[in-house]
Amino acid sequence: MRREPTDTLLVIDVQTDFLPGGALAVPEGDAVIGPINRLAAAFPHMVLTQDWHPPGHASFASRHAGRRPFDTVAMAYGEQRLWPDHCVQGTPGAALAPGLQAERAELVIRKGHHPGVDSYSAFLEADRRTRTGLAGYLTERGLTRLFLAGLATDYCVLWSALDARAAGFETYVIEDAVRGIDRDGTAQAFAAMERAGVQRVTSADLV
Ligand SMILES: [Zn+2]
Repeated sequence: MRREPTDTLLVIDVQTDFLPGGALAVPEGDAVIGPINRLAAAFPHMVLTQDWHPPGHASFASRHAGRRPFDTVAMAYGEQRLWPDHCVQGTPGAALAPGLQAERAELVIRKGHHPGVDSYSAFLEADRRTRTGLAGYLTERGLTRLFLAGLATDYCVLWSALDARAAGFETYVIEDAVRGIDRDGTAQAFAAMERAGVQRVTSADLV
């Protein structure tokens, strides 16, 4: 695949808490680091996201009496899955994964920092109204082709990819540079992305 000067590698939430042994471990989550590092060296632009919650964030099961991680609750903005405490601002679990070559990242966008609203998407928080500013940043810089990698396929990668399409970006998901939490959810996520016009590539197509 020919490289365009506007190509941007968008790396979603490759953070310690999402790796095996972390607070919200994604199976084989560490397997994305190798492909991402190879891609990072080859891409003209790189942008990262970091899940970045204040302590006691509304998405944490520990905040909801009688609820457990992976339960679903009704929030003012709709249904919310509850998670173990994860990616708390400034903690080691919230740090970018050791070994991730992030030096070339031009922007690190932090999401999920509003105490009462989650944000799977790099673009739009879970209330579906509050923007993170990423679309504006990319648009102002003319970065129109996005290649998504990172964690997790069935949550933050999925929502970011769908919102990227909705915002008009040419969007690709790099299938060997993402991993999902749940096997069925991951298959459904790939199908939903395909329906939205997200194209599937592998890192070998790109480097
Ligand atoms: Zn989170």
